[in-house]
Amino acid sequence: MDRKDQPIEIVGAGPSGLVAAMTLAHHGYRVIVHEERSDVGHRFHGDFQGLENWSSREDVTDLLQRMGIKINFLCQPYREGDLYDPDLRKVTVRSFEPFFYLVRRGSEAGTLDYGLKAQALEAGVEFVFNKRVEKLPEGGIVAIGPKVADAIVKGVLFETELPDMAVAIGDDRLAPKGYAYLLVHQGRATLATVILREFRREKEFYKKTLAAFQKIVPLDMKHPREFGGYGNFSIRPTEQRSGKLYVGEAAGFQDALFGFGIRYAIMSGHLAARAIIEGKDYDRLWRHELLPQLRTGLVNRFLFELFGNGGYRRLADYIGRSRDPRELVRRQCNPSLLKRLLYPVTYPFYLRRSRFRDYSCSHEDCDCVWCRCQRE
Ligand SMILES: Cc1cc2nc3c(=O)[nH]c(=O)nc-3n(C[C@H](O)[C@H](O)[C@H](O)COP(=O)(O)OP(=O)(O)OC[C@H]3O[C@@H](n4cnc5c(N)ncnc54)[C@H](O)[C@@H]3O)c2cc1C
Repeated sequence: MDRKDQPIEIVGAGPSGLVAAMTLAHHGYRVIVHEERSDVGHRFHGDFQGLENWSSREDVTDLLQRMGIKINFLCQPYREGDLYDPDLRKVTVRSFEPFFYLVRRGSEAGTLDYGLKAQALEAGVEFVFNKRVEKLPEGGIVAIGPKVADAIVKGVLFETELPDMAVAIGDDRLAPKGYAYLLVHQGRATLATVILREFRREKEFYKKTLAAFQKIVPLDMKHPREFGGYGNFSIRPTEQRSGKLYVGEAAGFQDALFGFGIRYAIMSGHLAARAIIEGKDYDRLWRHELLPQLRTGLVNRFLFELFGNGGYRRLADYIGRSRDPRELVRRQCNPSLLKRLLYPVTYPFYLRRSRFRDYSCSHEDCDCVWCRCQRE
């Protein structure tokens, strides 16, 4: 039977679901997107995120255009940023090509989410909001985002007189095994800590992050609004289960090193749509396009966690000394012989053991939102 005879149902209106929907609609399919919230972007709060531009030589905006996605949202190139080590020593990183594009997430004009929704509507996609789907029939796409936390984010949005900037701090005392960041664009700022350990101490890490940034930039915070979030990553053998295709973070597609998941979400949504349109095997497509970098990301995380504060210092120097930091990072994000050899060691370590446990939990009558100790 021709798949065009019946609508394709997609659960979840994040970037992965929206891109899958618009791609299918562009090819003449009837598509219905179910979203449990009253609009797109409700997972976010108007915060700035980075659409990374370092994992391939091709500029990510060219990649989007190649996939038929228009840039109808804030997409500001950032070519320079400051990295701070645990002693708050600064290394400025400059790149000729944009290092990343700053986007906004949330439910308002100018956000990535609103831009993609507008393109999906234009393509004829139908939306059903305020509907949580518990069971999706075969043939659909599951794009429901993360369901467990491998990393949590605690931060604040504010208005400011600061100039545009991108700043990151590597310090396990305020962002264990993660990093803290500040992004400023035209008087708006997002400041946060990304935590991969001891989730229960998130408030303490957040306070330390604020204190650290106070030392390096004159933080004038007007109308501060705190926010939080979480993300997950995993690599499973198949993302086709019970006749459904899993995309984005619902499939665990996420940069395991630093949590840059937007690009994976968009690419996997596009690949799932292509699998349906071209009658191809979705697993083959994502394994070809995404798996090498997903695996490398996991190895990078393993190595990063070995570093500790001394290592972050050397890493910042190493990147800062490079004449072409974007190319340096691109090489690190893509497979090498060493990383291929290390992968079999890191895979069981992260995906079957340590990351499932939050060692700050007592495990007695555990009611932690984040902890998986009861579920393993
Ligand atoms: C605070 C924070 C900062 C981040 N910063 C960056 C960054 O700088 N760069 C980057 O690349 N990535 C970043 N990420 C990760 C990135 O935002 C995600 O990887 C990306 O949004 C994943 O897209 P998705 O489509 O898979 O899922 P989501 O964006 O999570 O969308 C899933 C949608 O499904 C809906 N849904 C869930 N369950 C159901 C159901 N049962 N029925 C109906 N609807 C349902 C949800 O409401 C949601 O709208 C960040 C994440 C967080 C939390």
